[in-house]
Amino acid sequence: MSRETVVITGGAGFLGSHLADYFVKQGLMVYVLDNLITGSIKNIEHLFGKENFVFMHIDATNYIHVPGRVDYVLHFASPASPVDYMRYPIQTLKVGALGTHKALGLAKDKKAVFLLASTSEVYGDPLVNPQPETYWGNVNPIGPRGVYDEAKRFAEALTMAYYKNHGVNIRIVRIFNTYGPRIKPNDGRVVPNFIYQALRGEDLTVYGDGTQTRSFCYVDDLVEGVVKLLQTDYHEPVNIGNPEEYRIIDLAKIVLKLTGSKSKITFHPLPQDDPRVRRPDITRAKKILGWEPRIPLEEGLKRTIRYFKEEYSL
Ligand code: UDP
Repeated sequence: MSRETVVITGGAGFLGSHLADYFVKQGLMVYVLDNLITGSIKNIEHLFGKENFVFMHIDATNYIHVPGRVDYVLHFASPASPVDYMRYPIQTLKVGALGTHKALGLAKDKKAVFLLASTSEVYGDPLVNPQPETYWGNVNPIGPRGVYDEAKRFAEALTMAYYKNHGVNIRIVRIFNTYGPRIKPNDGRVVPNFIYQALRGEDLTVYGDGTQTRSFCYVDDLVEGVVKLLQTDYHEPVNIGNPEEYRIIDLAKIVLKLTGSKSKITFHPLPQDDPRVRRPDITRAKKILGWEPRIPLEEGLKRTIRYFKEEYSL
């Protein structure tokens, strides 16, 4: 008997690599597929010696071949931070559209469960707060964030079509802002930016007046939510995120306190179409998955700060 096998596109990225760790530990056969444009070998190098781990340096927008049995296809490939997806706009659209098509095709062929990593960005600059899964969103298709938002919205539509028309056993997770070890210091997201700046004694760059809000989920909580969703038989989208909402200016102050940094806070122009608020309504995740996040922001930030200190000798 061959053993259960999981394919993770984008498995060398921040979230993908944590999922790869989880499934390697569980003893599944794990295939990580990544083109490494925003992912990094460093995130998975500790797995290379394992007999149940295979890395394939390929682009998921091209035909995907994986030999033998596949039970789960987790489609996590995509640039995911605003700075990254604006640097790679075409690749972001392609991996959301063509990459999702190829990954769904693989799942269909292998009769595998398919899980799409979608995003809170499908809600755009939301007109309701918190956002339940029933909210349709407020997205500017031709704005700078449209390349990511619309790619993920198309990916959800395609995933649902494969469920309804081909009977593929799908899951859709809408992932809200997530942070933790392995998030890149230069990917432009607010948590790594503030931690890196604070540890280097640089100014903390708050965009706008800092009153816009986000809700930050620690990566271990996210992994647990994704795994629980895989174990259900639920085919509608599910929000996974931490419903504790913070103003960005308050996040800056918390990072200064936890690092003991003497850095100053400076204010810079707000990027175009930057959502004013974001907070997940996790009623569905609680009910369907029995899941809710467990790691409070300060605890998660402490762990992330420790990682940055060690990893970048700060
Ligand atoms: N932000 C900020 N300073 C930074 C980076 C980001 O004030 O150095 C703000 C950004 O404008 C947004 C929020 O922090 O309002 C979260 O940005 P991030 O890029 O982490 O992700 P988003 O939630 O916008 O996708």
